[in-house]
Amino acid sequence: MNDPRVLAQSDALAMPEILATSDKDGAVGIFGGTFDPLHIAHLRLAIEAREAFSLAQVVFVPAGSPPLREAPQASPQQRLDMVACALAGEPGFDLDDTEVVTGSPSYTVTTLERLRAQYGATRPLVLLMGADAFVRLPSWHRWQALFQLAHIGVATRPGQPVLLPATPDIDEATIRQQILGAGDAVGKVDACLVAELADRLGRPADIALAPAGRIVPFAITPLAISATLIRQRLAQGLSVRHLVPDTVLDYIATHSIY
Ligand code: ATP
Repeated sequence: MNDPRVLAQSDALAMPEILATSDKDGAVGIFGGTFDPLHIAHLRLAIEAREAFSLAQVVFVPAGSPPLREAPQASPQQRLDMVACALAGEPGFDLDDTEVVTGSPSYTVTTLERLRAQYGATRPLVLLMGADAFVRLPSWHRWQALFQLAHIGVATRPGQPVLLPATPDIDEATIRQQILGAGDAVGKVDACLVAELADRLGRPADIALAPAGRIVPFAITPLAISATLIRQRLAQGLSVRHLVPDTVLDYIATHSIY
């Protein structure tokens, strides 16, 4: 590897001084999900991540066939269509349909390898997820390879015990003490994940300094909404208006999905 800007695969954090990023075009957020259906908390997460990390764009990646959960109720194409409906007319939000179109099991690491090749070795990428998804990370296929491919931006989520301090100004020693001394919340989380967190914890400003490798918590407007709740309300004949975008509501009604 002769080009010093190229990210060393061994450890994205090892030599930050030679990891000049090509940040002139801005960091890119990657937001995967089942989106069964997309709801307003997904959109708020993307909007507030864009603000927190000064993202040039957020790429939504609907999972084709998520390996770690029950089969979604809506078909892959319907979930893709619902995300497309929600993103229409939203500048800076893009849709990546590859996982749905290929139909193979949706592994985030495979998607990130593809997007890393697409955006080049030096562009900062931020994989976005809620805190509930983050604590389940060790069950993901090749999860530790994710840190070589992207930063991880972890959004607060109501109901998820706080594992990550979302205050960017907090000093390093306090952060480590809070994480490693957080008692019950940490005790239930995979020890390898806690160790990765302690090593990689960063602040939003760190995103622009390297292409990958940091775990950066950020606080978003708390919305106790889930796709499960939306499906349950629809199954009971209750309204989900203003919990999902109107365009998604129309799509659900037209296709009688839930
Ligand atoms: P389900 O209820 O079907 O499990 P979900 O509402 O969690 O669905 P997903 O499509 O599985 O939605 O989630 C995609 C991503 O969005 C995940 O990283 C998840 O943590 C995050 N997310 C979903 N809802 C919220 C929320 N209310 N606050 C913060 N993050 C959220």
